[in-house]
Amino acid sequence: MVLAIQVADCLPIFLIAPNVSAIGLVHAGWRGTVAGIAGEAVRKLKEDFGVDPGSLSCFIGPSIHTCCYTVGREVMDKFQTDHLTENGPNRYNLDLISANSAQLSEAGVAAEKITVDKRCTHCSESGLHSYRRHGDRAGRNVCFLNLKWV
Ligand SMILES: [Zn+2]
Repeated sequence: MVLAIQVADCLPIFLIAPNVSAIGLVHAGWRGTVAGIAGEAVRKLKEDFGVDPGSLSCFIGPSIHTCCYTVGREVMDKFQTDHLTENGPNRYNLDLISANSAQLSEAGVAAEKITVDKRCTHCSESGLHSYRRHGDRAGRNVCFLNLKWV
């Protein structure tokens, strides 16, 4: 079984439960993050497949990092201050990676099992697609996660 999502700045979050052959692949933008999608995915894996959250390995793929993710007050107001850095009057940089990592940890994932890709889709020279850089012309980064039954 193969899961696939498309992202361009949003976070692709890969969840792998090696002991019970279960996987999850989450597309987390700021709205999904506010809705708690990463923690919800962990809870779903636990309920539906009996996954122990402590056994999960998580990988947050290339996404927009806090260096380039400036948001206005309407978005900033929805996040805890520990995920925000002030960047001028009524402007803040949002760290979606820390917000989603916190959700994964709260859901029981061990911090040392959360790996983050260092590339920012907006400012790295790696050829990744970025909605904020390319606007409506932006392509999408396609993410696959394959489950092999063992
Ligand atoms: Zn950046």
